[in-house]
This record gives sequence, C-alpha cells and structure tokens, in this order.
Amino acid sequence: MAKITKKIKTIKIDADKCNGCRSCEIICSSFHATPRYSSNNPARSRIQVLTNRLENKWLPVFAGEYTPAECMGRDKYVIDGKEYDECDFCRAVCPSRDLFKEPDSGLPLKCDMCEDDPPLDKPKCVEWCLSDVLTYEEREEEVEEEVEIEAVEAGLISLIDKFGMDKIASTVARLAQKS
Ligand code: SF4
Ligand code: SF4
Repeated sequence: MAKITKKIKTIKIDADKCNGCRSCEIICSSFHATPRYSSNNPARSRIQVLTNRLENKWLPVFAGEYTPAECMGRDKYVIDGKEYDECDFCRAVCPSRDLFKEPDSGLPLKCDMCEDDPPLDKPKCVEWCLSDVLTYEEREEEVEEEVEIEAVEAGLISLIDKFGMDKIASTVARLAQKS
C-alpha cells in the first residue's frame, strides 16, 4: 500500500491547569460558524470541557470519530483520587450521549484542528486558552494512504444513519450529474 508523509498535529492537554472558563468552546464554535465568527454557541464546539465543580474536575475533550454503535462496556477512570464519569475520556461521537452532535441537525461534530488556508500557526482553542492547558505540537510521519479513505467512509456512514441510504444515494447521483 502506498505511503504518504503526513503532518501529525497534536494538542497536549494539561487538565490540572484547566479552570473551566470555556473560552476554548466559545472560540471553536465561533471559528466554525457560517459565516465565520458570525455566532458562538458552545453546544457546537468541537472541544467540550466536562465539568464537576464540586469535585474540582475540569476535563477538556476533543471531538473524535463518529461511531453508529456504543461500546459493549464502559470505562471509569480514577486519577489522583478523583473518579471520572463513564466515557469521560472517550472522544467518540456515539449514540450513548449527546456530546459532539450539532444541536439542530444531530450530525456529528469532529475536531478538524482548525484547518484553514493559509494554515493557522496554532488551533484557535490553543490560542485562546490563557491558562496554558492546551499546547500545540506538529511532527511528520509516514502513513498509509487508506487513512483518508476511512475518514470519508465514516462521514458517509453517519449521513446514511441520519438520512437513510436512499436519500444519500439519490443526492450523490444528483450531484454527480451536475459535476
Ligand atoms: S480555555 Fe483553557 S482553561 Fe478555559 S476551559 Fe478551555 S482548556 Fe480550560
Ligand atoms: S483544534 Fe480547532 S476544531 Fe479542534 S477543538 Fe480546537 S478550536 Fe475546535
């Protein structure tokens, strides 16, 4: 299988520094609004800060891949004596919770690392986190080309789940005729 060089973008999360200000959620939703910066709604953010104020828990989590099925079991983490809720560390957009779903359409949201043209120096949530919780890093790695195809498939599966195969197939056929 062909290999390509891919830029791997990483955001390191130092959750202990997070104070729950939610600036990251606001700027993410605003940056991804259409038109850009025309509105902000943290429910549309691709980063969510899972919070339990009484237990002093603040956990920024980034939206990952969509999956149509939930896990067979659940995980609970205990770190420094703090017990986190089930699935708190999971990035998946899955049927077991409302996290990372576009509030109007229910379609999955996914962190795209603020891809833009020209590229940003750093993602918006990193830039706006004044507590240095989020640190951006880049490196290059050789990966198999198939990774991109999997991303396209995941998007199509979520649309098929939402609107049904017939609707998606007829829409694709109509768009193909236009192009
Ligand atoms: S901007 Fe930083 S400190 Fe504020 S909630 Fe987000 S991660 Fe936490
Ligand atoms: S990297 Fe960009 S898209 Fe991802 S959560 Fe941060 S602001 Fe949102």
